[in-house]
Amino acid sequence: MRQVLPGHGASRGSALGRARVRLPHVLDVAEELVAAGDVEAEIERLHAAIDSVRADMRVLRERLHGALAHEVGEFLDLHALLLDDPELLAGLDGLIRSGRYTADYALRLQRDRIAAVFKGMDDAYLRSRIDDIDQVVGRIHAALHRRNADLQGVAGEILVTDDVAPAELAQLQAQGVMAVVTAGGSALSHSAILARSLHLPLVVGAAQALQKVNDGDVLAVDGSSGMVVVEPDAADLRGHRARMRELVRERRQLNRLRREPSRTIDGVDIKLWANAESRDDVAEAHALGAAGVGLYRTEFLFLNSNTLPDEEEQFRAYRDVVLGMTGRTVTIRTLDLGADKADRTGLVLGHEPNPALGVRGVRLSLAHDAVFETQLRAIVRASGYGPVRVLVPMVSSREEMVDVRARLARVADELRRDGHEIAEAVPLGAMIEVPAAAIALPMFIDTLDFLSVGTNDLVQYLLAADRNNEALGALYTPLHPALLRLLRDVIALAGRRGKSVAVCGEMAADAMFAPLLLALGLGEFSLHPATLLEVRRAIRGCDLGALRARAPALLRARDRAGIERWLSAT
Ligand code: PEP
Ligand code: MG
Repeated sequence: MRQVLPGHGASRGSALGRARVRLPHVLDVAEELVAAGDVEAEIERLHAAIDSVRADMRVLRERLHGALAHEVGEFLDLHALLLDDPELLAGLDGLIRSGRYTADYALRLQRDRIAAVFKGMDDAYLRSRIDDIDQVVGRIHAALHRRNADLQGVAGEILVTDDVAPAELAQLQAQGVMAVVTAGGSALSHSAILARSLHLPLVVGAAQALQKVNDGDVLAVDGSSGMVVVEPDAADLRGHRARMRELVRERRQLNRLRREPSRTIDGVDIKLWANAESRDDVAEAHALGAAGVGLYRTEFLFLNSNTLPDEEEQFRAYRDVVLGMTGRTVTIRTLDLGADKADRTGLVLGHEPNPALGVRGVRLSLAHDAVFETQLRAIVRASGYGPVRVLVPMVSSREEMVDVRARLARVADELRRDGHEIAEAVPLGAMIEVPAAAIALPMFIDTLDFLSVGTNDLVQYLLAADRNNEALGALYTPLHPALLRLLRDVIALAGRRGKSVAVCGEMAADAMFAPLLLALGLGEFSLHPATLLEVRRAIRGCDLGALRARAPALLRARDRAGIERWLSAT
């Protein structure tokens, strides 16, 4: 029966396909017993499920190629090891025999037992292994019910799940998943950013999805409006086809702008940098005429790996981005792990009470001298291949920038002494994403060569509204007078001091906000190539002089509605 599940569009594109429902890994299995005569059959059922999971994982491992094989393969190898781990499984047969429990309940008891041991461990890395146990247990549980909890065989399907981690997304796409619908999550999360980078349609916050959708249901998903239709009717199918046609038409129109400048009607050139995470992003950024890479998020190199990437591995990755941009500047952001970007290496503290306010970004780097030095060396070495800038995330004080600058200078000296060919200067900039950094900017702008405003975090910290919490709904918005004032001040100060300033948060990637940012004086945007042409089109439709003249009216707006009225009058 047709049902409409409203969610929030987080990554554009439409998809029509069958649903694959992945229930949360937490096993909510009630105590259930089997008859004494059925105990051995239950044990056999369990082992058949384990064998089938093992076989599925082998097939999946063999089908992975290239970089993905390296990244995703590590997960699979670890999970395969766990499947054979006597600690995890030996107890299961015993539980079924002695307690006459169903395989499901035995699985839950065993999982909880192991989780309790892991939880008590001091080592954050080991504690974080609970997630792996849960994934393996989830696979076995799904196999017991012939439900495929895994990604195998999902080609052409739409994944419906509670939430999706950034680290999973590339794997999902490689598996052929056409779209993802999550019950939780937010359009500003790192998963959403990555989905846009992968051009994978994503709808988040479809709260009813797990209750209402069953495996095999046909879904029509619209990643723009956030609408998910279960068992679409003829009108929905017409709508889907129309959207697909529209997307193709729009793509074609936008493609005509590939070689056009990002110039306003009154002839002012606006710099469009690209936010690039993958090799494809870099190629696309280059092809679309991006001024350079304004934000390369290095943490994505760390997210999928159980070990820290060494200097060589990082150097090669950064060098390839630099080479890919053929002489255009590449801005490499130092590690911004922490908060929702937890790694698998144990670097990030596993149990911070308030991770968004915790040891993330530059705080984490400064607390790990060797890790930071390795990264700085790799970045500076890449500067031998083309212009590179270093961007520091989560800066909240002058001291941090002074410290980073000293480290950067030391690393450059050492590399030069060791005979490396590196750039004469590697400009150093700060992300302005903590309100303290924006407010105290006059006190430390002298330590910066350039600035990049991270509105995703700046909005969250300024408005005390978690960027990942869908329940906050409209509270998390850049359309707030406090943000506009802060942006105006940061942009104006940077201009007075002759420092380049870009906005690299998602706000810069939304063509709707382009007139507002231009009115506030912004001359540089950094955004994912996926929407670069849309923003270029919007800029080409703007008269900068007229917008600047209307800036006072924008800054007088008292609330969101007022700002929206200003926007709709442009
Ligand atoms: C931001 O906070 O706006 C930003 C660009 O950084 P990230 O989204 O990676 O936190
Ligand atoms: Mg940020």
